[in-house]
Amino acid sequence: MADCIFCKIANGEINAGVVRKTPEFVAFRDIKPVAPTHVLVVPTAHLSAVRDAKGDAGHRTLGRMLAFAAEVAAELGLDSGGYRIVTNTGRDGGQSVDHLHLHVLGGRPMTWPPG
Ligand code: 5GP
Ligand code: ZN
Repeated sequence: MADCIFCKIANGEINAGVVRKTPEFVAFRDIKPVAPTHVLVVPTAHLSAVRDAKGDAGHRTLGRMLAFAAEVAAELGLDSGGYRIVTNTGRDGGQSVDHLHLHVLGGRPMTWPPG
């Protein structure tokens, strides 16, 4: 989608610290990390948020994206200590980039509830 920063990262137009890329998903380092490991996982095809991943195709994308994020977490050495996967959605969810993404956060203990 034109003017979407994560579409531009996914198609290589903008450089980001890519840690894993497949035709369907890209994982890259967050520009403002809030944990020692902070990676974003996005589908290469634009979807605005998790609430827009509808129907069989959307549901399958979500399943594969979560599995992809878990593989990335394992590759980054987070399995033993654990990690958190988050997707902020819309205004109240604190979403600031309107291209579906999972945050993979690790390397420090997380607290609950989130702010
Ligand atoms: P949200 O607030 O939508 O859940 O998360 C968006 C995330 O994208 C934020 O953590 C923010 O730091 C990150 N971000 C925004 N712009 C860029 C960018 O141009 N490059 C990278 N690598 N991360 C970005
Ligand atoms: Zn996009």
